[in-house]
Amino acid sequence: MGYLGEEIKKLGFGLMRLPQKDNSIDVEQTKQMVDLFMEAGFTYFDTAWAYAGSEDAIRQALVERYPREKFQLATKNAAWINCKTREEAIAQFETSLKQTGAGYFDFYLLHNLGESRTHFFDDFDMWSFVQEKKAEGKIKHVGFSFHSTPEELEEILEKHPEMEFVQLQINYADWEYPAIQSRRCYEVARKHGKPVIIMEPVKGGMLANPPESVQKILKGAEPDQSVASWAVRFAANLEGVITVLSGMSNVEQMEDNLSYMKTFTGLTEDEMHTLRNAQEELSRIPLIPCTSCNYCAKVCPMQIGISGSFTAMNYLNLFNDVAAAKHQQEWLVGGHGLKLASECIKCGKCEQVCPQHIAIREELAKAADAL
Ligand code: SF4
Ligand code: SF4
Repeated sequence: MGYLGEEIKKLGFGLMRLPQKDNSIDVEQTKQMVDLFMEAGFTYFDTAWAYAGSEDAIRQALVERYPREKFQLATKNAAWINCKTREEAIAQFETSLKQTGAGYFDFYLLHNLGESRTHFFDDFDMWSFVQEKKAEGKIKHVGFSFHSTPEELEEILEKHPEMEFVQLQINYADWEYPAIQSRRCYEVARKHGKPVIIMEPVKGGMLANPPESVQKILKGAEPDQSVASWAVRFAANLEGVITVLSGMSNVEQMEDNLSYMKTFTGLTEDEMHTLRNAQEELSRIPLIPCTSCNYCAKVCPMQIGISGSFTAMNYLNLFNDVAAAKHQQEWLVGGHGLKLASECIKCGKCEQVCPQHIAIREELAKAADAL
């Protein structure tokens, strides 16, 4: 048995970026991915009320196709999205139960605590609500996901020792990155004795395709392993980790992750050395640390394609290829019915919810100029 009395392998299926077809989730491909994952002995699935269509898709692809006791399902409560009352926040839990058809949740998280979002859970006393549901058997384990400073994490864990685990953004690029502080947050959680679930190990896909100089280091060390595998293995190698969530978007990504995580037993000293070299190399290249979580999109009154603009700008910064960056922008912004960076009215609402603390207005202005 692993942490919290659960038997969970070190790879979890993150359901935030499921495959798309005709502008909705490709449930048939999701089924194939679920089957591959389960066949390989992995059992942990992570969705959220806030991931559009994800709870419904996982009901069809997993819950209705496998015995309930054969997998663990996690979902999350985002009381800070459009909730004015406790009842509205609680309604998210009931909606999640209905959408997933799961009957109960193995892991239930208060979603994205930190900064201006935490007080919603205090105001609506969601802390006691989740304990009530735990007592009723509708939730097995209660924790929270978090995007903010180690100091704030310390404060929450001191106030709420009943929380059983913490979900943190951890990857080799953000380990010492000042806006994220992966290492320090991880150390705070461990100091409080909390096991950790890792999210964004591949940094929203960016570490699957890092700058050429970084790829050279990783491919030079292990030519047969994918570059993304280094990112997942870095996270899985940490002590005190329940599982590492990889937000897989197609069968190929699933197959790649399974190929090395099926037999993963830890990194060697040589492999750690290679990762330290990659970290040093990466820290020399300035990028916008956007993970495409799209929390900003939920509050932007102008429907600006913020994350798409940033992905395009990062393409430009990494590969210095204006045509490729513009292509990214066309697809991720206009192609998704969103507006260009140049139409931003600089209201600043997006910056209040961005877990990566990006100076969004400033970066959008640069994107408008460059693209
Ligand atoms: S500052 Fe611009 S991008 Fe941000 S919420 Fe306002 S209009 Fe949208
Ligand atoms: S700008 Fe911030 S809130 Fe918006 S998608 Fe990127 S990381 Fe998420």
